[in-house]
Amino acid sequence: MVLFGSDTIRKIIILSLTFILSILVIISNKENDLLILVNYNNPIRKGFSPNIQSYNGILLAKEVVKPLKEMEQELKNRNIKYKITEAYVSVKMQEIRFKNLVNKYLKKNLTKKEALKKAASIQILPRYSEHHTGLSIDFEGDKELYNWLESNAYKYGFILRYPKDKKSITKYEYNKMHYRYVGKSPARKIRKNNLCLEEYLSKEEK
Ligand SMILES: [Zn+2]
Repeated sequence: MVLFGSDTIRKIIILSLTFILSILVIISNKENDLLILVNYNNPIRKGFSPNIQSYNGILLAKEVVKPLKEMEQELKNRNIKYKITEAYVSVKMQEIRFKNLVNKYLKKNLTKKEALKKAASIQILPRYSEHHTGLSIDFEGDKELYNWLESNAYKYGFILRYPKDKKSITKYEYNKMHYRYVGKSPARKIRKNNLCLEEYLSKEEK
C-alpha cells in the first residue's frame, strides 16, 4: 500500500531540511555583538541573551575565552599574579544584588525612597552593567598587573573601559580593574587614538 507518492515524500524532505537549516541559522546568529554599548544611557535590551561559556570557574561570552586564554598565558610567562573577580553577570543576579542592598538599608530604618537612592549610589542598576554582555572582566592584582594590562591588553582585543581622562564621557571614575573585550582591530584603534568606547563608536558611525 502506498501512502505517499514520491512527490509528497520529496516535499516532506525539502520542508524538513528547510526547517533544520533555519534553526541552524538562528543558532549561528546568536553571536555576541562585540561592540555593543552598555552605559549609563544605554541599558542592555530586555531579553538580551549572550552566548555564555564557562571557563576556569567563570562565565564569559564565548568569543572572549580564546583571547583571554592567550592573555593569561602571557601573564603566566611573565609571572604576573592576578585574579578575575567579576565576569558575566546576568540581569537577574544584578537584580538580586540590588534588592539585597535596598533591603539592607530598609533594615537600617531608611525610607523606601532613601534606601533606593543609597543603593543606586553604590550598586549599578540592573540592566546598566556592562558585565551583562559577558564581554567585561575585572582583574585584581598589584601595580605590575595594572601597568602590564594598560600597555598590552589591546593586543589581545581588550580595552581599559574607564580611562582616567574620560570620566566626562563614560560617567565612570577611572577603573584600573575593568577591561572590555571589543576585538583586536577596534582595541588597537581605540588605544592608538586614546579614545574611550563611546568616542570610538560615535566616530565609526560617521
Ligand atoms: Zn567591572
